[in-house]
Amino acid sequence: MSALNVAKFGGTSVANFEAMSRCAAIIEANPDTRLVVSSACSGVTNLLVELANGVADQERRAELLQKLANIHDTILSQLNDGAEAASEVYSILDTITSLAEAASIQASTKLTDHLVACGELMSTHILAQLMRERGMDAVRFDIRDVMRTDSNFGRAEPELTSIAELAQQKLVPLCQQHVVVTQGFIGSDEEGNTTTLGRGGSDYSAALIAEGVKATGLEIWTDVPGIYTTDPRIAPKATPIPEISFSEASEMANFGAKILHPSTLLPALRHDIPVFVGSSKDPQNGGTWVRREVESSPAFRALALRNNQTMITLRSAKMFQAYGFLAKVFEILAKHKISVDLITTSEISVSLTLDKTDTSGGAPELPLAVREELEELCTVEVEHNLCLVALIGNRMENKGYAKEVFSTLGDFNLRMICYGASDHNLCILVDAEDANNVIQTLHRELFEQNIQA
Ligand code: ADP
Ligand code: ASP
Ligand code: MG
Repeated sequence: MSALNVAKFGGTSVANFEAMSRCAAIIEANPDTRLVVSSACSGVTNLLVELANGVADQERRAELLQKLANIHDTILSQLNDGAEAASEVYSILDTITSLAEAASIQASTKLTDHLVACGELMSTHILAQLMRERGMDAVRFDIRDVMRTDSNFGRAEPELTSIAELAQQKLVPLCQQHVVVTQGFIGSDEEGNTTTLGRGGSDYSAALIAEGVKATGLEIWTDVPGIYTTDPRIAPKATPIPEISFSEASEMANFGAKILHPSTLLPALRHDIPVFVGSSKDPQNGGTWVRREVESSPAFRALALRNNQTMITLRSAKMFQAYGFLAKVFEILAKHKISVDLITTSEISVSLTLDKTDTSGGAPELPLAVREELEELCTVEVEHNLCLVALIGNRMENKGYAKEVFSTLGDFNLRMICYGASDHNLCILVDAEDANNVIQTLHRELFEQNIQA
């Protein structure tokens, strides 16, 4: 197959009948789009996560189930011939009811994944039917037959070789005949258990699928016309970036810009697949192209914000001029598979942050067993309610860069600063209550000034 485009639609893009119809029009407009990856309808995953966490109160459970039924019913009722899709959706709603009851007795990560996957399983039945009603030859495909992952429920790792093989075997021939509509976010392990790639994982799914079928293009359709200099909900004067490199956009995603799941660009980079990010509400308005090579590399590219950070500070007088302290700390963390994000050290202390983006949400915790082991070496202090602000740019080692940034932040309590390790990012940990203000201040001083200049 020559040109093959994968189009991914996020939750707001498939929120209701009108939104889904806009997606269908976008798909129709590009004959190269043979594969469509859809999220759950807006709000559905949050409802499912609440159920999966275990809702013991029967009334509340019934209320959540009713909300789920209403969201889907409303769209189904606007289809001309929705009977078959409706029966599929109702049977999934039955499954949700029993899984939610099971979760109210005993929640588990395995059960959570089974339950939250139902959102995408439902939305794709409806979207495929809506597309057929517009005259498109659309078929729904269960991506769990291709998206092989490990069994790390809540944040499963894709198994690339199996995915590529299965995609070539099962998806490519199907795309030659039909427009295939499939689920983002979900996969299955070797034993056939349903897994998920973590919240926001549909972007990553779409990129993995694009890689697996050797697509020539990937479109991420969302609710904003491209990647902005920062989240426009925080800084309304943020502007869309017409073109950005894979590495800059990866940094943004990694540091929390919600517009893309952190791993999205890895498959695109590996296969050099250009990625377009645009708004399904306003497809004519253009968007952002993410490519390997881009023309400009400005000093200040974007600001990203990551909430829910946990900082661990380890202090030991013995660390002073001692060998091996850090090695021991990391040995303990590695043994318990705790992934460290940022780190700064002084002569007697080391501070590090933990991040978590798995499906169940919430702030990352330092497990008690790890804390106890660390306490044999040093004192351990754990702080929540912190946010990470990342400034993404180029040539950050240049003279005057740090001064320009930090001179604007005099009014804030900066809890941790990581600068210098990378040429492309500068990270600052701040109290959660200051985070939006820090973003707004940096945006005003570093981005809005530059625009006017
Ligand atoms: P979808 O459901 O389509 O995946 P998301 O809500 O996950 O959409 O991501 C889109 C949202 O990301 C936007 O509405 C915006 O608030 C937020 N966002 C965060 N950082 C940025 C950024 N740099 N540019 C654009 N949007 C951003
Ligand atoms: N539906 C999932 C979520 O809300 C995945 C996604 O939309 O990307 O996290
Ligand atoms: Mg998203």
